[in-house]
Amino acid sequence: MDYPGNLFVVAAPSGAGKSSLVKALMELDSGVHPSVSHTTRAPRGQEKHGREYFFVSPQEFDSMVLADAFVEWAHVHGQRYGTSKKMIEDRMAQGSDVVLEIDYQGAIQIKRMYANAVLIFILPPSWEELRSRLERRGEDAPDIIELRLKNAAEELAQAKEFDFVIINEVFERALFDLKAVVHAQRLKYTAQRRARADTFRALKID
Ligand code: 5GP
Repeated sequence: MDYPGNLFVVAAPSGAGKSSLVKALMELDSGVHPSVSHTTRAPRGQEKHGREYFFVSPQEFDSMVLADAFVEWAHVHGQRYGTSKKMIEDRMAQGSDVVLEIDYQGAIQIKRMYANAVLIFILPPSWEELRSRLERRGEDAPDIIELRLKNAAEELAQAKEFDFVIINEVFERALFDLKAVVHAQRLKYTAQRRARADTFRALKID
């Protein structure tokens, strides 16, 4: 991958606080942009087509898979979700950093496609805290919470495949950690050389 922009992938079990952390990161850092995924699930609440997701039919999703339009896609909680190749590559080509909030299966596929992608896993501080966050959120019925906790055990076992692990115990601390990872990635030699190609050329460094 030789784009000037960086690719960050954030994964976590539901309830670990992934969405709030990524949202806060984007509010603080205008250089980081989200990628809007395609999904076969129906919109929830105030969700809008093209903002949270592109909501598509299973047939539309199938045609995109056949057309090789996704860099990765996966079954998550009984639905399909995929990241559009064109959307992220256009953004990175323009020099923007892209953040993907996807599940661990997608994250691992992304790393195979883009070796420079930075994989970040968000952990809850404990099982008790994860359960109580899911309960406090009040979005899911008790049986769904049990299912999410069961899935979380499988997801946590994948954390070892990731480059960075952030434990979201205190939100501000976890946000600081996330900003530090983004910043450190931008300072890597290869990332600087891609992002500041003109400076490197002018300095005659290859
Ligand atoms: P939700 O339906 O609650 O918005 O998302 C369910 C799960 O699907 C979350 O773990 C979310 O990160 C994941 N997800 C969202 N978009 C994608 C995607 O494009 N690819 C993959 N692999 N997972 C996704």
